[in-house]
Amino acid sequence: MHNPFQNAMAQLDKVAEVKDFDKNFIKKLRQPNRDVRIYIPVQMDDGTLKIFEGYRVEYNNALGPYKGGIRYHPDTEINEVKALAFWMAIKCAVAGIPMGGGKGGITVDPKLLSKSELEKLSRGWVRGLSDILGPNKDVPAPDVNTTPEIMTWMNDEFMKLTGEKTGATFTGKPLDRSLPAGRQGSEGRGVATGLGGFYVFDALRNELKLPEKCTVVVQGFGNVGSNAAEIFSKNGHKVVAISDSKGGIFDANGLDIVKLLEHKKNTGTLSGFHGSKNITNEELLALECDLLVPAAFENVITEKNANNIKTKIILELANGPVTPEADEILFQKGIHVVPDVLANSGGVTVSYFEWDQNLKGEHWSEAEVFQKLKTMMEDASKKVLAKANASNTHIRIGAFILALERIQEKM
Ligand code: NAD
Repeated sequence: MHNPFQNAMAQLDKVAEVKDFDKNFIKKLRQPNRDVRIYIPVQMDDGTLKIFEGYRVEYNNALGPYKGGIRYHPDTEINEVKALAFWMAIKCAVAGIPMGGGKGGITVDPKLLSKSELEKLSRGWVRGLSDILGPNKDVPAPDVNTTPEIMTWMNDEFMKLTGEKTGATFTGKPLDRSLPAGRQGSEGRGVATGLGGFYVFDALRNELKLPEKCTVVVQGFGNVGSNAAEIFSKNGHKVVAISDSKGGIFDANGLDIVKLLEHKKNTGTLSGFHGSKNITNEELLALECDLLVPAAFENVITEKNANNIKTKIILELANGPVTPEADEILFQKGIHVVPDVLANSGGVTVSYFEWDQNLKGEHWSEAEVFQKLKTMMEDASKKVLAKANASNTHIRIGAFILALERIQEKM
């Protein structure tokens, strides 16, 4: 099993080999500023008491308040949260937003909880950590298995505990126009990660020598994967395969994503979709295509399967889907990887917009949000590629160089 934090540190080491950063600066970045573990008691519906383990890692805040999502998953543990928090620090710096890196989580399978148990657990996470959270300290957001509704519970709990009347402590809140502007979610947050990924792809398409219309394969059909599939498809690209945790489907003629969303909603599975054939996740990753979009979990492309990959380009919308060993194999094969810290930074960028709107008491239109997002993603993409080209290295290392230069300057 790959330890995601070791992977993250292997990436940092690789950057330090390519670019001569101050040694103590790199040493400092090998641990977070703070990692906090809490134990959350929850009275279950059957009257028993269960204790859940929760985390918040505050990695680096040189550029601004810590920022990063909260993950609910049975496999969530401290090394995963530390890796994700480190990547958030890099990601915010790449995207050019004035925020630092943090991440949180709870070791839990939320599908096994009732709604009221889930609410108690989420409020408990805030009670355990309220001292270190706040609009100018640490601003959490949703990640895997956490939703806008959970952010509402959390923000409500935070306001009750602290007496602060602001929505700016949690982003990814729902778009509830009945609330004051300072407590609403932002337009566009739901699609932001997929859309940001599309803007990055579009900004780099020519330089990466991709055709005008690409064949696209997407792993994962949750928030990020389904939105990305829909956006690529709407923009004239052909999405030929998609998978979720139960397996995948393939149609060489292209899948109708709107109908597929409906099919999954009605049947709970991708399988059996009109005109498609079932494939496994391993087969999906090995398909010949222009663009492979991992949008599920970390460590899906490793030294074991990297040699089977036949795409031209990988756009990492998940966090950490390609291991450092696989990165090297893909680079040798001439397959460019557009890294997570750039490709999926649209999510945190619109989270930053939400925080900014909440602090200013403003509400921006969807068109305004998308225009600002596009400008920032294009700018970040061009700067990252220029850094990679200047050092004749991977795009990932280019992104890290850009981020580390920005963080080092502030530190
Ligand atoms: P999600 O829970 O909505 O979706 C995850 C999807 O992955 C589901 O469709 C699930 O069925 C699928 N999946 C699980 N195991 C799989 C497997 N073995 N093979 C194929 N598919 C599998 O989560 P999400 O919010 O879409 O996040 C997906 C990834 O994107 C995560 O790595 C997350 O950290 C990253 N990310 C999310 C955001 C965001 O805004 N939601 C922002 C940046 C990065």
